[in-house]
Amino acid sequence: MLQVVPVPAFSDNYIWLVHDEASSETAVVDPGDAAPALAEAERRGWTITQVWNTHHHWDHSGGNLAVKEATGCTVAGPATEDIPGCDVALSEGSELRIGDHRGRVIDIPGHTAGHVALVFEEAGVAFVGDTMFAMGCGKVFEGTPQQMHRSLQRIAELREDVKLYCGHEYTLSNARFAAHAEPGSSAIAERLARVEQMRADGQITLPTTVGEERATNPFVRSSDWQEFARLRAAKDSFRS
Ligand code: ZN
Ligand code: FE
Repeated sequence: MLQVVPVPAFSDNYIWLVHDEASSETAVVDPGDAAPALAEAERRGWTITQVWNTHHHWDHSGGNLAVKEATGCTVAGPATEDIPGCDVALSEGSELRIGDHRGRVIDIPGHTAGHVALVFEEAGVAFVGDTMFAMGCGKVFEGTPQQMHRSLQRIAELREDVKLYCGHEYTLSNARFAAHAEPGSSAIAERLARVEQMRADGQITLPTTVGEERATNPFVRSSDWQEFARLRAAKDSFRS
């Protein structure tokens, strides 16, 4: 069992602590800010042994050096990106380990050119950074819409019960856009209502699952990259 715990950071980021009880190892995914991640680990009596980055943006890697300095941990991140303190270069097919759990790396370019996903399929968890969000996806900053569409498809091809841990709490705004994009979908309407209630109650809406995203994420459901590109442009100018 891998225990995964959210650490809210900045206005809407999530840093994820990943703890393996058997080995008492702890990894931290995308520590944009070191202080809240170190504080939460300390509160739980966990020692961070690894940093894993999905991409280079400062809100995901800005705390790397401070975490490394405080703990002596190793830092793993995308091979082709500028990752502070990087010790282990990750790319398609790389293996990650925490205790006896093995994860694999898949390249999911689009948001950034070297963005990776960290997939622990047996444990049923995957870290997808800013590529897929619950009911939405990241902006295409460094790649092409073709790449982003393909990257979302690769995540959506994982086992349907795999839990997806995303980099931001964008679900409510994504759900409103999804309801606008697919007005006939009762699955989306129901999930929008659920998400509105969760946010009103101050709850985190993550993780999501591969199955839920296949059913309610218009970007995942788009049939080709052209339709994906139209949706992405529409979302960029959508005011909910
Ligand atoms: Zn980003
Ligand atoms: Fe981000």
